[in-house]
Amino acid sequence: MQRDTLVFDLIRKELERQRRGIELIASENFTSLQVMQAMGNVMTNKYAEGYPGRRYYGGCEIVDQTEQLAIDRLKQIFNIEYANVQPHSGAQANASLMLAILQPGDAILGLDLSMGGHLTHGSPVNFSGKLYQPHSYGVTREEGIIDYTMLEAKAREVKPKLIICGASAYSRDIDYKRIRAVADEVGAFVLADIAHPAGLIAKGLLSSPFDHCHFVTSTTHKTLRGPRGGVIMMGKDFENPFGLKDPKGNIRMMSSLIDLAVFPGTQGGPLEHVIAAKAIAFGEILTDEFTAYAKQVQSNAQAMAKAFVNRGYQIISGGTDNHLMLIDLRNKNISGKKAEQVLGIADITANKNMVPYDDKSAFVTSGIRFGVAAVTTRGMKEEHMEFVVNAIDTSLMNADDANLLAKVKKDVNDFMSQFVLYPEMG
Ligand SMILES: *Cc1c(COP(=O)(O)O)cnc(C)c1O
Repeated sequence: MQRDTLVFDLIRKELERQRRGIELIASENFTSLQVMQAMGNVMTNKYAEGYPGRRYYGGCEIVDQTEQLAIDRLKQIFNIEYANVQPHSGAQANASLMLAILQPGDAILGLDLSMGGHLTHGSPVNFSGKLYQPHSYGVTREEGIIDYTMLEAKAREVKPKLIICGASAYSRDIDYKRIRAVADEVGAFVLADIAHPAGLIAKGLLSSPFDHCHFVTSTTHKTLRGPRGGVIMMGKDFENPFGLKDPKGNIRMMSSLIDLAVFPGTQGGPLEHVIAAKAIAFGEILTDEFTAYAKQVQSNAQAMAKAFVNRGYQIISGGTDNHLMLIDLRNKNISGKKAEQVLGIADITANKNMVPYDDKSAFVTSGIRFGVAAVTTRGMKEEHMEFVVNAIDTSLMNADDANLLAKVKKDVNDFMSQFVLYPEMG
């Protein structure tokens, strides 16, 4: 077969784009070279429906070992009893978990999408809002912190089967204990979706959901810095208290019900090449190097937040506990949409985002979200946040000055050349 230079040239261009820009999309990161290499391996050729030791295909004795390694390492990272590493993505992990514990039409309660929640927590355009009956809680108008009083009142009112916490654009730690207390009162399960802060939770830098939440889902590619994918975890396995049955009518342990909901419930063959890359990433997370990385992420986020506040920017909730922050741009007279466009011209990548109680549409928005997981992987420290925030501020305050934006872009490109990305790739 002739080498497809058309596609490989585009891949090369994407590498150059990643190298020269400042990546501030809060959900992105740069995997290690070995994690990326593992994704392009012969295990992509293998069908392995089922789980290690109980597959529906022959020839699984090697992929059984990589998958088991991924499971064992993930359990070690969070000190937990159960992990399923097969979900293809974070959304798939949530779909599987909900399939395992809910019936169509059951009420669920999650953080509103426009307040920082995720599509899979009950948005009407998502399976979670179509198959189940979605209800939502928000954040307080004054402080931008989760409105726990509202959450409790909603839970008592709608009696959900599942309360979902965790978010995509929320910069504060979460009071899992308080959420569990009301869940117990109304007979609901609690799911913590830690897709964003998982890498910080792994190192004890944020409170752990495992003591209080029945289930925890995550992506593996955000602060965990692994390949694109998802996982489902439980601190402790348990017999299901509501007598949920498997498709054959047997009452089973929760771990079995979740395994069945991933496969055959929502997925077919697992991506064993990606699972091999997950195993490598989880091994990296267990090192002291990753501990230093996670701490640096948190310090960089705080330094960045401070630099924004010093320039008069309004951060929702006033600051950050994790790797990200959401900025309300209304006092700066620029929309999230325009801000995203302008920063793009300067080779700074970020995404527009609704802010709580936003008066603009989801296409325009009043906010922008910044995360530092990716730039921290590039090697940035606290002292570099000043340059980054200055470049952002200069761009936003001169949004229609093409010459100035061209100069910021050049400065950004020069600045980034000191943080070499994938030097092995030439
Ligand atoms: C990113 C994210 C997901 C979805 O992950 P995908 O891999 O994009 O499907 C789910 N939940 C939350 C809270 C997220 O931030």
